[in-house]
Amino acid sequence: MEKREELYRGKAKSVYKTDDADRLVLLFRNDTSAFDGKRIEQLDRKGMVNNKFNAFIMQKLEAAGVPTQFDKLLSDNECLVKKLDMIPVECVVRNYAAGSLVKRLGVEEGMKLNPYTFELFLKDDAKGDPFINESHVVAFGWGTAEQLARMKELSLKVNEVLGKLFDDAGLLLVDFKLEFGVFSDGSIVLGDEFSPDGCRLWDKDTKKKMDKDRFRQGLGDVIEAYEEVAQRLGVPL
Ligand code: ADP
Ligand code: UDP
Repeated sequence: MEKREELYRGKAKSVYKTDDADRLVLLFRNDTSAFDGKRIEQLDRKGMVNNKFNAFIMQKLEAAGVPTQFDKLLSDNECLVKKLDMIPVECVVRNYAAGSLVKRLGVEEGMKLNPYTFELFLKDDAKGDPFINESHVVAFGWGTAEQLARMKELSLKVNEVLGKLFDDAGLLLVDFKLEFGVFSDGSIVLGDEFSPDGCRLWDKDTKKKMDKDRFRQGLGDVIEAYEEVAQRLGVPL
């Protein structure tokens, strides 16, 4: 496999073409952004930690029957993935109230959601990633009803698998965001990343925040918390 030119530079990762039309290289950078890219800082080791964290989680999900983009780790900061035609919709599953749900509905942070909730946001920083519903996805052609049904099915499967994984590590999976894409064979595949940048994880006993909210809320020790989560899960760093 040969790494070729940069295809896209996002807020936290850079995406490169390869000599295989069906494969891309994802490079995890140390850039850390919040508030739709309005605040960006460099955090030492973040690229490495998130790359290895993501590899570990994607392999667990694949083993549990969730089709993922992950192919293999290439270096501390890079992995090889399936090239997907990304669906510009963020799927968010919540088990406890936090973040934008608390702001939107005025409910108490930490309230148990029974059952979990499933929400959709349009991936569009310029518009502030607006909240949308399933009919918008189909009406505006971001995805078909069948693709959406599969994305929801897979999101709930991810919640089941990872809820247990984190619980065993003494952590509550509060909420998380997933992005899906269409592979060359037409199937829906989990893309982007799963790391503490895109989910909320609280210590079960102390409720300490162990995710990107430490950055958003200026709590400090951001990467130290990511590393502790990785260590509790047994992610080799
Ligand atoms: P953002 O675009 O939100 O700033 P990143 O910095 O993480 O995010 O950039 C990664 C970009 O690569 C995102 O736009 C994401 O949708 C896209 N992407 C992630 N995985 C794949 C994939 N397997 N195939 C194609 N594009 C992908
Ligand atoms: N999330 C994300 N990227 C986004 C928006 C949200 O990874 O562009 C994640 C976020 O980290 C959290 C979950 O999705 O785990 C739900 O986020 P929420 O809607 O509460 O928004 P926030 O307040 O985090 O912006």
